Amino acid sequence: MPELDRIATTLGAECDPDDTLTDILPALRAQHPVPLVVTRDDVIQGTVGLEVVVDAFGGDLAAVLVGAVMRPAPLFDVGESVEEGVRAMRKAGAAAVIVTESAGGLFSRQRESHPVGMVTDAQVLATIGKNVTDKAPMKILAGHRDLGFNVPVSPCQRNCPIKQDIATYVDYVSQGRYVDSWTVIHETNPFPSMLGRLCNHPCETDCKRGWDPGEEPVTIRSIKRFSTDFAFQQNLWIDYKIAPSNGHRVAVVGAGPAGLTCALDLRVQGYDVVLYEREAKVGGLLSTSIPPFRFDHRQLQWELDMILATGIDVRTNANVGEGERDIHVSDLVAEYDAVFVSIGMMKGRILPIPGHDLPQVTDAMTFLRQISYDRTPEHFPIGGRVVVVGGGAIATDACQSSIKLGAKEVWMVAIEPEDRLPAFGNELHEAKEIGLNIKCGVIVKEVEADDQGQLAAVAFAPLQPMEFDPLSGKLIFASVKEVEGAERWTVGADLVVFASGQIMEAPGDPVPLTQRGLVAADRAGHTGVDKLFCGGDCVQGPSFIVDAVGWGHRVARSIRESLGDASAPGERIYQTIVERTDDHRQSEVFARTEPAILEAAKRYDMSECELPWSDREAIVQSIRCFQCDSVHHYDTAVCVLCGACDDVCPEKAIDVVVFGEDRERSSGGETMVCRTSGGDPLSGGYEGEIYINYDRCTNCRICEDHCPVNCITFERVRFVDDTMRVVEKPRITVDLPLVAVH
Ligand SMILES: Cc1cc2nc3c(=O)[nH]c(=O)nc-3n(C[C@H](O)[C@H](O)[C@H](O)COP(=O)(O)OP(=O)(O)OC[C@H]3O[C@@H](n4cnc5c(N)ncnc54)[C@H](O)[C@@H]3O)c2cc1C
Ligand code: SF4
Ligand code: SF4
Repeated sequence: MPELDRIATTLGAECDPDDTLTDILPALRAQHPVPLVVTRDDVIQGTVGLEVVVDAFGGDLAAVLVGAVMRPAPLFDVGESVEEGVRAMRKAGAAAVIVTESAGGLFSRQRESHPVGMVTDAQVLATIGKNVTDKAPMKILAGHRDLGFNVPVSPCQRNCPIKQDIATYVDYVSQGRYVDSWTVIHETNPFPSMLGRLCNHPCETDCKRGWDPGEEPVTIRSIKRFSTDFAFQQNLWIDYKIAPSNGHRVAVVGAGPAGLTCALDLRVQGYDVVLYEREAKVGGLLSTSIPPFRFDHRQLQWELDMILATGIDVRTNANVGEGERDIHVSDLVAEYDAVFVSIGMMKGRILPIPGHDLPQVTDAMTFLRQISYDRTPEHFPIGGRVVVVGGGAIATDACQSSIKLGAKEVWMVAIEPEDRLPAFGNELHEAKEIGLNIKCGVIVKEVEADDQGQLAAVAFAPLQPMEFDPLSGKLIFASVKEVEGAERWTVGADLVVFASGQIMEAPGDPVPLTQRGLVAADRAGHTGVDKLFCGGDCVQGPSFIVDAVGWGHRVARSIRESLGDASAPGERIYQTIVERTDDHRQSEVFARTEPAILEAAKRYDMSECELPWSDREAIVQSIRCFQCDSVHHYDTAVCVLCGACDDVCPEKAIDVVVFGEDRERSSGGETMVCRTSGGDPLSGGYEGEIYINYDRCTNCRICEDHCPVNCITFERVRFVDDTMRVVEKPRITVDLPLVAVH
């Protein structure tokens, strides 16, 4: 963490303890979130911020004197660490520390009383937040934790690549606050309609509700979809507050989720962003590959429009490469302050077996791209036979699309046995319901032509049993061996679609490549080439939408850091919100459910398959959440360290430690929630601390109910800025060309 002098601002305007809140309001408004310094006879008495005015609102502001509501202002040497400053702030109940000049040279820690600046709590939180993912409240929560506010980070949020504030948005749905829920989701996720349907949901994998045997995780993904459906139906829109231009220009190459997220983050921070996209539309694989029946196109367009409406300069049909008519990366690096290359892995692979060059052989990426432009793919046999080679999620999409486009017989043919196919089980099941045939345990050998040189059939060789990596579950290719002398399995075909991998098309110098043919960059997007950043699938290999969004956030931060952008605290209104969280609601009563799928008979066209939830379904499912972000608040003035909470906790999550007493400390918790003392220490007084293990706590509130002095409440701490405003959707016209030019 930096030292105080690195984040200190100059002292705010001054006021007198005898001023009234009405007197100081204009000055406070002008410099919020920096508080006014309260001085008398040139001696600092304290600070006063806008929060005291908010508290006093509704009363007579002219009757409240600053001296009565001001907060203390501890003095701290400029060289002290931020942690020390924060500790002093908390101890004194202050909102800022006054930073004083160092006395006696560079290494002196001797206090001097001459004030040179101040550090506010909002600034500290903003600094911590900036270090992780911009606008991600979790980082801020981490900040609270670092600040000693004892805020637990829920397991789902820890596991989410974009650190969605899940417990909060799920809780808001349970309270009927759907728009608030949608807004919280948007803090780190510009594509909730897509991720609410298609996310691989690593959050659910680690949801505490699913930790117990027999229990299943909260349906987090679908709750996200529910809030987003609601906001869409209400015609809502996020109006981003754009910081004043900072004069920096950034080029983003590739308008997939990684590029668009990065462009949005930078635009909101006042950068001029130019987005180069070689397709005729933006969205990357979301709009050019994932087939229409898996999401709601109108909602994707709405989310793309909200991003572009921030003023990003979009240049479609602009290919970045080494060709004569291409835009060259080296020129972009020379022209812009930073360049972000996020070109994905857009090209499909066709295995080089005999017959692979027949006209009726294609790859899944080309096939799905053509469908995305509302075209029937070339050589598509309506009423005929399609063979898809591959057993992954993209193969399933190609198979289902073929059935929906009118093929009579569709085969998925894969190396792995059916129970080890990499495709998602539910999607495979859905595809089988509408007629998909599956052949497993064979490897493709030849595409056979008839006498006229037209495709006739595909031949496969049977395989011996194969091995899988016990950890990742992935197929070990070295174990793939044909059964010697076995007869080939041949299937008639009018079109063959290879879904056997994706290729990254290198955009040319100076983009560095790895031996695997991906772009070489670290997790923050640095490439080692000055001003050049890369991220998303083109660096990571084929992954998931949520990973790409994470790349976008991280690279935006790297670009800002590289350009020395320490966001000016005066530009945003930062707010720390402490909410009382609701009482325990018998959440174990309900079982996990997922949205229903359109019945099979209605799934033979491109309409969306997943059905929306009713309010009741969404509320019931959100009530299953433990709200793992809730923190115990012990009133230290009331707590008598009786140990009742420790005794009743069914999860053994609490340790009440009374100094001098031999109480077992068994919870494993390190989060100290209370330190208190009482009585006379010489004759029966007590002093001690209370620790919680938040990995154990299920927020059941039994401790709260059984506390004899009623000193426990539960709170959630959030940190928000004023970047987003929810408004009614404006009328906008999209004048992007509708047809691809290549
Ligand atoms: C069929 C299919 C289904 C999928 N389903 C899911 C799913 O259900 N859930 C999930 O989480 N993920 C899914 N994915 C994966 C997900 O779509 C990707 O991981 C994600 O889109 C990667 O984002 P990105 O921004 O890195 O790249 P992309 O989305 O690939 O975007 C790259 C962009 O760069 C542009 N571009 C490429 N080269 C150039 C160039 N030379 N010049 C200019 N522009 C260029 C491209 O046109 C594209 O717009 C699926 C992928 C496919 C193919
Ligand atoms: S119970 Fe709720 S807060 Fe806890 S991990 Fe699951 S979704 Fe997250
Ligand atoms: S809320 Fe329940 S599980 Fe958590 S500490 Fe209190 S009694 Fe234990």
